[in-house]
Amino acid sequence: MLANGGWIDPPNQGVPEAEKPIMSSHSSAPSRGFPADFQAWFEHAQDPFLLLDSDCVVLAATEAALRIVRTLREEVVGKRIFDVFPDAPNLRASLDRKRHSAESGPMPDSGRYLLWINPADARLRDPDHFIAVIDDSSQTQPGEHALEESEQKYRALFENSREALMVYSPPSRQVTSASRIALQMFGANTLDALSSLGLSPQFQPDGALSAEKEKEMMDIAMRQGHHRFEWMHQRADGTIFPAEVRLTRIESAAQVFIQASLRDISAPKRMEQKFRDQARKKHSLNRHQVAARTASLFAHELNQPLMAISSFSETALMMLHSLNPDRIRIGKAIENGKRQALRAGLAVQQLLDLLNMEETGTEKFNLAQEVVNLFNFTRSGQEYQFHSELRLANDLPPVTANRIQVHKAIQNLLNNSIEAMEADGGLFPTIIVTVKAHEEGMAMISIQDNGPGIPLENRDHLFEPFFTTKANGVGMGLVISRSLIEVNGGFLWLDHQENRGATFHLTLPLAYE
Ligand code: ADP
Repeated sequence: MLANGGWIDPPNQGVPEAEKPIMSSHSSAPSRGFPADFQAWFEHAQDPFLLLDSDCVVLAATEAALRIVRTLREEVVGKRIFDVFPDAPNLRASLDRKRHSAESGPMPDSGRYLLWINPADARLRDPDHFIAVIDDSSQTQPGEHALEESEQKYRALFENSREALMVYSPPSRQVTSASRIALQMFGANTLDALSSLGLSPQFQPDGALSAEKEKEMMDIAMRQGHHRFEWMHQRADGTIFPAEVRLTRIESAAQVFIQASLRDISAPKRMEQKFRDQARKKHSLNRHQVAARTASLFAHELNQPLMAISSFSETALMMLHSLNPDRIRIGKAIENGKRQALRAGLAVQQLLDLLNMEETGTEKFNLAQEVVNLFNFTRSGQEYQFHSELRLANDLPPVTANRIQVHKAIQNLLNNSIEAMEADGGLFPTIIVTVKAHEEGMAMISIQDNGPGIPLENRDHLFEPFFTTKANGVGMGLVISRSLIEVNGGFLWLDHQENRGATFHLTLPLAYE
């Protein structure tokens, strides 16, 4: 799966043979799976480009490329590049050795073509695909001159790229070249002007010094080949903006350098904030409605344990003042009073939790991983034995939410399932937890148990404050869990299936890429 959300179909997976655009003999570029701007760029490119996948199969060719190799599209597209250029022995070696590096492969006979494999072309943002530029060096002198021309061509491609691209020559952290868009992004007219800027505020949002963290990021990219992360940058006019940065290590014959591809994500971040504000507003309304209803129910509910405490105390006193006080019965009455007092205390505590529930910051995290940890934690604290199954989508993007609030809600649902199954005493108690993508932009967790389920007459009351069927229950768990999920922009509901057991679903918004 590609890190950027998989906009390109892997050549041999998932797409029926008939639909595979890469094999198309009519179009010059793949028609699906590519971002529209890339496709438009490729289709209109005047340069002789070939698009290759990681197996070096040609996925598409421009008209100019076909003119140079003087052949039909069918002869090129769908074939491995070694078969298209069998007389380029260096090609295989250079591609096998350094897939992502810029390498030339001069033809042995008369230097007909020169292939320039563009390292991790920024437009693709995908290290598993390449663009090869075919240089018709039959028009020029082979050798040095052709190489130089090709380098110039690459530089021109780089500088005119629609992406904000910058190149560094580690260990120096000075920018050595930058595309036009990168200069515009920072508000600099020239490379010198750009180099003189700090490019980042002194600190990153996590409190780290930008200079130190920058070095750390470069080191990771040098070690791993590429590294992607979010970064706060600063323009020439001092404004700070969030960017998604992708660093790629590029090895040429002479040196190793780092290409940085930047994307200004201020707009998606603003959308995310707006979305959150709306969710918070809605939640706040919802919480106040719940609190108002809870307060009236609360007075009524609290009355019950208070009355009980008062009557147990009265009984105990009466027995104490009798001629033959029965210590055991007095003890029982006091014990009952204590249990009721604890119940009332718990209800007060949970009401306060609901009223004090404020968002204390969100973070991006892997939901599936979080669910596994929480599930194992819950299970390890249980004496009751049950079976379990975790069905986790492994390519789910992270969610943005308040981790503690989400924990609390999931924990409550798991506890409810465990308590229901334990009380039921069924033969093969099982919990199935599923984490997968839901509708547009949401992740969904489903918690299913095979306990007694929820009788029809109770279903409409589950999310009402103080609704409980448990002897020692308070009936605030589901109310609070729903509020916790809603404040994070999601929903929590009961599946109204008629099967045995109960299934609760909750959703959370995926983090904006
Ligand atoms: P409490 O756990 O204090 O009763 P909750 O709000 O968490 O409060 O739950 C309310 C009621 O919903 C429970 O008393 C129970 O009747 C019902 N319930 C919740 N989850 C389940 C479940 N998984 N299976 C059966 N009943 C459930």
